Amino acid sequence: MLKDFFIGLSQNQLLNTAAKKYGLKLGAQNVVAGTNVEETIQSIKELNAQGISCTVDNLGEFVFEKEEALAAKEQILEVIEAIHENGVDAHISLKPSQLGLDIDLDFCLENLTEIVSKAKSFNVFINFDMEDHARLQPSFDLLDELSKDYDNIGTVIQAYFFRAVEDIQKYKDFRLRIVKGAYKETEEFAYQDKKEIDENYIKLIEWHLLNGKFTSIATHDHHVINHVKQFVRDNNISNDKFEFQMLYGFRKDMQLKLASEGYNFCTYVPFGNDWYGYFMRRLAERPQNLNLVVKQVFNKKTNTMIGLAAGAFALGRVSRKK
Ligand SMILES: Cc1cc2nc3c(=O)[nH]c(=O)nc-3n(C[C@H](O)[C@H](O)[C@H](O)COP(=O)(O)OP(=O)(O)OC[C@H]3O[C@@H](n4cnc5c(N)ncnc54)[C@H](O)[C@@H]3O)c2cc1C
Repeated sequence: MLKDFFIGLSQNQLLNTAAKKYGLKLGAQNVVAGTNVEETIQSIKELNAQGISCTVDNLGEFVFEKEEALAAKEQILEVIEAIHENGVDAHISLKPSQLGLDIDLDFCLENLTEIVSKAKSFNVFINFDMEDHARLQPSFDLLDELSKDYDNIGTVIQAYFFRAVEDIQKYKDFRLRIVKGAYKETEEFAYQDKKEIDENYIKLIEWHLLNGKFTSIATHDHHVINHVKQFVRDNNISNDKFEFQMLYGFRKDMQLKLASEGYNFCTYVPFGNDWYGYFMRRLAERPQNLNLVVKQVFNKKTNTMIGLAAGAFALGRVSRKK
């Protein structure tokens, strides 16, 4: 129920537009690395110094205006250049819907081609984040088209989809990030039960570790992480075949611990002002993340409509649960 509430908020275009005007607020700055490329590169340098590589996400999604998509493309090109110039250990994560997927597929492909081509010339990897079901097949179609000419691309497999088992086999020669899945999907396409999602998640990770190219295991779930550690030991899978990934600002101690234990670790580093949808999905996944909002509301005495509405509703739900 609470999950549905925040997922609903994450897809609300009006609130998204309103939130952009406020810059980094409501506690989002705890989980967003910066507002511009310079600040973000600084955050990446700090993570690199701790043995952690990064995947950089220029926040933004569900773009319906060409101008906005073109501006996003320019921003991503700027990040690619900055990665190269600063020699940092980082690659790019992007959302096809930010680059025109919902406007026109050819337009989106043009934007993606420019990005992937520039990244290739600087030896930078590009990961396609996967969004909701409506955008799943079009995103794979774009990936198929681009992979005819480029090998510096990979994508995400979302374990809640029934089709994930076939997708992972089809894309086994790609570098894949495997996740549970962050959007609200119907029972027509996706498992609804957390136990079933978790079981499928483990199944997909194991399959790709044994049969696929490089595997990024993107989760904050220590049960899954412990399972993977044991699985790779039992199957003599070397550390260079996989990495763990977590989101910037979450479980920082565990991020450092995994890196210090010798595992490849990559932090997903979002930046920019379009934090709203990303942040609402984080609240949907884990209502405890609401403490980021509450701290901010009380510390800074901010009084935005969105923060208080979300906070009041969710606190009511959480305290009734106790
Ligand atoms: C790097 C990265 C990239 C992602 N990319 C995508 C994408 O492209 N598309 C997409 O749909 N989704 C993506 N996701 C989101 C993903 O699909 C899940 O929604 C999200 O990661 C929550 O699931 P989880 O596996 O982390 O653990 P959950 O199922 O949320 O939690 C399982 C258990 O882990 C523990 N736990 C979880 N979080 C915390 C915490 N912060 N502190 C303490 N304990 C905790 C708790 O015990 C919890 O019960 C991405 C996630 C990551 C980390």
